[in-house]
Amino acid sequence: MPGIIHPTAFSPTRFEIPLEAMKLIQERNDIEMQQIFPLRRLLSNMKNIHLSVDSIAENPPHTKREITEEFLTQLKEFATSLGVGNIAFVKLPHDLIFQKVGVLYDNAIVLTMEMSKEKLDQAPSQETLNMVFGTYDDLGKAANKIAEFLRIHGYAAQADHPLGGLVLFPPLAQRAGIGWVGRHGLLITPEFGPRVRLAAVYTPIENLPLSNSNEHGWISDYCSTCGFCIKKCPAKAILEDTIIHESGQMTCVKQRECFEYFVQYYGCSVCIKVCPFSRTEGAYEQLKAAIERR
Ligand code: SF4
Ligand code: SF4
Repeated sequence: MPGIIHPTAFSPTRFEIPLEAMKLIQERNDIEMQQIFPLRRLLSNMKNIHLSVDSIAENPPHTKREITEEFLTQLKEFATSLGVGNIAFVKLPHDLIFQKVGVLYDNAIVLTMEMSKEKLDQAPSQETLNMVFGTYDDLGKAANKIAEFLRIHGYAAQADHPLGGLVLFPPLAQRAGIGWVGRHGLLITPEFGPRVRLAAVYTPIENLPLSNSNEHGWISDYCSTCGFCIKKCPAKAILEDTIIHESGQMTCVKQRECFEYFVQYYGCSVCIKVCPFSRTEGAYEQLKAAIERR
């Protein structure tokens, strides 16, 4: 497509979960899936992934590029009404676009949606898996509706579905100032800890209040004294020492070890469950105070 923004030489390769899962099951007789996929949610996710692509054709040919304070407030209120937990704005670093894909605009609206604590506390389980697919679905629908809302008001937009996104979401959300990436490689937010799914909407709007700071860097200090996810990971897949690559990107998890367990046991999610930031409301402030006392 004309005007497409391509990945760079530093961009990551997307791990194609369905394809990799099929390969693993074909290659290994000892791999057995325990889960049943929630068909209605699975189909709805697929439908909304397609919609995020097909709806690009609905973009206004002459997009508006400036947003008013009043419309920004309406946009945030609309997102909240759809169940979005956090909304933030950031310039999309092209290094975060996955190889072999592209995006249309590099002003990113980053979205989170909370996952149920009650269902995560049952991880790994069918109940947890159903809830995770449900959250993907609800957030994917929300991203599409936000893109549609922008189009109705004269702005072009491209929704990026949380399942199989075009961009590496955790570092994008960290750059947007929503939270900080923990040793398990997941975004930790003040409101919900790592119990969130992430999505984005890309637009040509030039005067969004783009973030250029992040107040959650202290989470790294807490992580260095914690290591609970590393101890509790049933596949021993989380690295003791996160690898920081030349590109600035991080590897937190041994992908193969995690994936073998993940495929067999309901998408696992143990590292989200055990993270102290997932615990209760107020965990973020309590843990911050504990770090400041040290
Ligand atoms: S469990 Fe501990 S080390 Fe792991 S991400 Fe959470 S706070 Fe950091
Ligand atoms: S999903 Fe499970 S196996 Fe993978 S890193 Fe987290 S705890 Fe470990």
